[in-house]
Amino acid sequence: MLFDELAISKEFIKNIKSLTYTKLTQIQEQMIPLALEAKNIIAQAKTGSGKTAAFCIPIIEKLEVKKFRIQILVLAPTRELANQIAQEMRQLSRHIHNVKVLTLCGGVAFKPQVISLQHEAHIIIATPGRILKHIREDNINLKHLNTLVLDEADRMLDMGFYEDINDIIQSLPSKRQTLLLSATYDDNIKKLANNFMQSPILIKSEVLHERTIINQTFYKISNQNKSSLIPALISTNKAKSILIFCNMKITCEQLADELDDLGLDVLSLNSNLEQKDRDEIMVLFSNKSYPILIATDLASRGLHIDNIDLVINYDLAHDINIHTHRIGRTARAGNTGMAISLYQDEDEEKLEDIKSCFADISFEEVSNLSDNLSYTIDSDYRTLYINGGKKQKLRAGDILGALIIGVGLVKEDIGKIDSFPFCSYVAIKTAVLNKAYDGLSNTKIKGKYFRIHKK
Ligand code: ADP
Ligand code: MG
Repeated sequence: MLFDELAISKEFIKNIKSLTYTKLTQIQEQMIPLALEAKNIIAQAKTGSGKTAAFCIPIIEKLEVKKFRIQILVLAPTRELANQIAQEMRQLSRHIHNVKVLTLCGGVAFKPQVISLQHEAHIIIATPGRILKHIREDNINLKHLNTLVLDEADRMLDMGFYEDINDIIQSLPSKRQTLLLSATYDDNIKKLANNFMQSPILIKSEVLHERTIINQTFYKISNQNKSSLIPALISTNKAKSILIFCNMKITCEQLADELDDLGLDVLSLNSNLEQKDRDEIMVLFSNKSYPILIATDLASRGLHIDNIDLVINYDLAHDINIHTHRIGRTARAGNTGMAISLYQDEDEEKLEDIKSCFADISFEEVSNLSDNLSYTIDSDYRTLYINGGKKQKLRAGDILGALIIGVGLVKEDIGKIDSFPFCSYVAIKTAVLNKAYDGLSNTKIKGKYFRIHKK
């Protein structure tokens, strides 16, 4: 189905096409028409199948922009995912003037959020803890809300979040549309959903975990030093962007140190870090300045990073759903990917679950692994930090212009540009990093010199 066939405005279709989306993904085709009819929906579709746009498109279409009140609330389990959804929501609503999308997440100052709320917004994207705090302090007017979305809904309704979600839902108008999305659900989802959704429609898209897309290999580990296997696992697969999952923060830290000692460039992400650092780590990994990101399950849900080609489960996930979400960070939007899982004797039971869910996994011996020494594990880019961002009206186009016209780089030298309120990051091909650094330090951007750092 083409976007032209949807019952949405012409301007909206044009905007979607400008994002180079041509056809709807299967879940979008199944969900958007029903969501446009204000149905309550529980949608299940595999990781990377475009569920974000599947809920954003219908809710943007029904948004009344002239009514400057909160109409839509999207809840997500992590700050990183909330920010990513906000970004997609903003892109998809570009054809409408003055849509205000506000994120309310923990880890950043509370007061500025209160002030933003006083100025009203149309769409709120939030993590549960922080929005609940605003609700309890009466900072937020939800009387005009007509749509609630739970992304990663099974996670949002599990033990860790359920009470918070329940409290949030109690403070919303009961007459509203509710949309649930995830790649996985437990059997009791319908029963659970009936507590706060009226006659939800269940939509399940395609073969949930298509076979050929994620190539899964398992290695049994006995007494080996696990970290010493990582270079061989990466080099034999010629991977360039690798996400490694550990079950605990402490393992992440240890592994990061060990890989660092082996001379690899690694980043490590966990919830102990300050949000500023978490954001920067996400930037440096997604713009391909570092080949390896080590993370807890903080990164297993919903995050979309282009072109991750290898996921390594350094520890086997605690259950099959977590495993599914972790490996779903690769092979997204129609691409293929690899997933390698290390397991031990005590994981046999979990392994049985995985075998029953994924038909075509393969098992290899660690002893057959050999490091492909001709392969260098490195990234194509490095990052420059610029001490100015959206608040200084510094846009991606300005930075691009300064680098091309001012510094003399070509377009191909410049990678992803990420803008934050007070700073920006630009990925530069390694070979021209110094030229870019020296040049940009001595070039005005939008008539001003900014402080530049190499990251
Ligand atoms: P999910 O939530 O199902 O895991 P996402 O919503 O994060 O997946 O989407 C994965 C990727 O697919 C994103 O990069 C998104 O921009 C892209 N995408 C979404 N819809 C389409 C489409 N109709 N055509 C092409 N790419 C799409
Ligand atoms: Mg998603």
